[in-house]
Amino acid sequence: MTDYSSSHKRLFRRAFVHRTPWVLMALLSFLSAASIIVLMHGLSVAIDSVFMQETPLALIQPTLVLIIGAIAVRGVLFWIHEILVQKTASEIKANLRQQLFGKIQQLGPAWTETQNSGDLAATAVEGVEKLDAYYARFIPAAIHMTVVPIVIVITVFLIDWLSGLILLITGPLIPVFMSLIGMRARQQTQKQWATLRNLSSHFLDAVQGLRTLKLFTREHRKHAEIEHISDRFRVSTMGVLKIAFLSGFVLELFASIATALVAVEIGVRLIEGHIGFQVGLFVLLLAPEYYMPFRMFGAQHHAGMEGTESAGRVFAILDTNALSAKVFIDGNSDEQSLSYSQQFLQNEYSEPVKSQAYFKDEAATEEHAGNRSVSLVFDNVTFTYPGKSYPVLSNCSFLLPREKKTALVGVTGSGKTTILRLLTRQLAPDRGWITLDGMPATGTDDGTWLEKMAVVSQTNWFFDNTILANLQAARPNATHEDVVLASQVAGAHEFIEKLPDGYLTRTGEFATRFSGGERQRISIARALLKDAPILILDEPSSALDPESEERINCALDELMVNKTVFLIAHRLSTVRKADNILVLEDGRITAQGSHSYLRANCKLYEQMVSTYTS
Ligand code: ADP
Repeated sequence: MTDYSSSHKRLFRRAFVHRTPWVLMALLSFLSAASIIVLMHGLSVAIDSVFMQETPLALIQPTLVLIIGAIAVRGVLFWIHEILVQKTASEIKANLRQQLFGKIQQLGPAWTETQNSGDLAATAVEGVEKLDAYYARFIPAAIHMTVVPIVIVITVFLIDWLSGLILLITGPLIPVFMSLIGMRARQQTQKQWATLRNLSSHFLDAVQGLRTLKLFTREHRKHAEIEHISDRFRVSTMGVLKIAFLSGFVLELFASIATALVAVEIGVRLIEGHIGFQVGLFVLLLAPEYYMPFRMFGAQHHAGMEGTESAGRVFAILDTNALSAKVFIDGNSDEQSLSYSQQFLQNEYSEPVKSQAYFKDEAATEEHAGNRSVSLVFDNVTFTYPGKSYPVLSNCSFLLPREKKTALVGVTGSGKTTILRLLTRQLAPDRGWITLDGMPATGTDDGTWLEKMAVVSQTNWFFDNTILANLQAARPNATHEDVVLASQVAGAHEFIEKLPDGYLTRTGEFATRFSGGERQRISIARALLKDAPILILDEPSSALDPESEERINCALDELMVNKTVFLIAHRLSTVRKADNILVLEDGRITAQGSHSYLRANCKLYEQMVSTYTS
């Protein structure tokens, strides 16, 4: 209930950010009311003259012209009103969709991974589209209902106060009835919208997971589930329609009874001679026009409710706090913690020669930021996932020396992926700071930050477009020759050339027409094209067969030339080549050095190597 009314308020506020179109709509409604009055007055005068006064038709020609003019003006006003309404509603919707997409981008993959894509798609497409009814029909109807009846009732009061009083009392009863029926309708609309989102989620699940469903011969079950939800959706839609029809019936009945009341009241007074025929007819003609905006509003009330319901979910997304939007706190907020360089030097497992060679002059973070030999600094970073009582990373510190290969190892769940997410700004640290090529994360926008890195991971996303477009996504101004060269180096050119449409072959959403190794080679070509100084490899060859792995490793060797490489190693086969290996344990780097050094000095590393080789 509260959510519903707050969505209503927010939708209203959003509509009135730009007041001009709504003021214009109110003005058009006023002019429309004026044209109705002129039209009905003209009609009553013409009928009175011809039938009661027996005036020849020729004499009432100016009145007939007035009637035709009023009809034409009403038509033109309606036309302008519709254009204005549609334009305003489309602008608001486009703006909201843009905001929603911007928010989803800001929330980033760390958030979207926790959401159901079908539900998100339903909200961004159907949910926003439903607002069309709200902005293009419900609000204009509300404005019309506020302006037109007031103009008509004042006119009627001026010419016949008794009829004016009846209109004044009966008119507002219609919205009161409507809101009583609306309370019941709201629950039904909520149910309908929730079922629709559920249906979208299940449908997308079924499409994306078709292979798994088939393998487990569970497609019939999913089929039955979708059938069941479709049926629930049908029932809830019928429920909503039932209420919509019921409210329509009540409205029509009430408006007819109220008009009849005015007609009876005027008829009685006409017989008694207390009112003139022309005045009586004029009021009688105005009465249905007076109730019309109330009826229109009632009819659109249902559409407005649907819009408000779907807006609830849109606003919930807009209000979500991004994990990546946590405030960056610079420096060592934890007074107890040591600066990372001191930690490294004091760490009993650190390889002294190598670490000093890398870090010898770095005593303070500011110096690292400006130091040309260091590419990235992770300084006392602490991060806790919402809902978790303990941090995944706790005062975690390390450096990536420029143009060197650094590998990160740790048992599953130690926080390697979290470090990757922090580096790529999908998350922001609770404490500590991250510096990249001298730029502190604070105050650096995502674009500038991410431009400096290319990521190749186990799963890479492909847009449903051509191979060429997918490659050019990394560097939009890359020529065809650049693309071919990168593909050759990555070992992808050969198989792309063999495809019937070559580089213009469509990849499809998941690029499933290609093998795992081929997909990886395209991703490596993409990273080569980006040519970023830092290369993050999230074990790109781990899911491949030995032959593909060998080819990928060759391509990666080309990619790593002159780059600062950060290899997140879920398996240990690739770490040997690294200049320095970092061991992540209990949320911090507990040891670092070469493969042989760590084997001799770090128990955890030795255990991991033995487990892997056995
Ligand atoms: P690794 O990549 O080393 O296997 P992760 O960084 O994926 O480890 O995970 C570290 C810890 O954080 C795990 O305990 C995991 O359950 C938790 N974790 C990862 N992602 C989330 C998330 N989105 N929300 C809550 N906890 C998470």
